[in-house]
Amino acid sequence: MEFIQAIPHPVLVGAVISLGLVIGSFANVCIHRLPLNESVVFPGSHCPACSSAVRPLDNIPVISYIILAGKCRDCATRISPIYPVIEAVTAALLITGFFRFGLSFDFLVFVVVAPTLVIITAIDIEPQIIPDVITLPGIVLGLAVGTYTIGYANSLLGFFLGGGLFYLLAVLSNGGMGGGDIKYIAAAGALLGWQKVLLVIFIGALLGSIIGLFQIAVQKISRKSLIPFGPFLAMGTLITLFYGNSLIQLYLDYLVG
Ligand SMILES: [Zn+2]
Repeated sequence: MEFIQAIPHPVLVGAVISLGLVIGSFANVCIHRLPLNESVVFPGSHCPACSSAVRPLDNIPVISYIILAGKCRDCATRISPIYPVIEAVTAALLITGFFRFGLSFDFLVFVVVAPTLVIITAIDIEPQIIPDVITLPGIVLGLAVGTYTIGYANSLLGFFLGGGLFYLLAVLSNGGMGGGDIKYIAAAGALLGWQKVLLVIFIGALLGSIIGLFQIAVQKISRKSLIPFGPFLAMGTLITLFYGNSLIQLYLDYLVG
């Protein structure tokens, strides 16, 4: 499994990391405003405690947080470390994707999908929803890109298989599966096709079970306060984007012999 295709130029690497930090900064805005149905464009960034506008020089991803020692310049209220973490994770994901895909169409798709997965994960942990403003455009994008990369038949099949399975689960589990999860997996299915959407669900369920059992056993928490399914689906999608072909091949080799 050749992960790195070629060693890219350092300037390109720097550019991709910078792009990741900027997109991560925008992801923070989305994470905080989308659940409140607020515009992600207006107004500009401001301190949630004192409402002071954030100065451009205090708005540099990760670096400003370190310079300000995690405090608002105006009122000294602590700024959540979630902000620089989101920025750093987004940049790390993009550079990993760049090493994996190189400058390609796959990387272009990854630049859109990976930060979206970060946003979905953060919002689904708290306040535990996957907003329509992400999943509905996601379905359109999934069908469009899927038609181009894997053909419209496979894209549609993935859409209906993923969405259908989760819809069935929602009915059977009586509310254990949210509408956001259904729309999310339909979008992932449209993007990835029928085989890979099954892989996403398998990896998501596997990770969710492991973490869930760990939470119940070690942290002694009730089933009600478990992490929702979205973050595990996002992780499953990420792993499938990176290793989907190899994992499916492995499965087929093992099954067929
Ligand atoms: Zn403030």
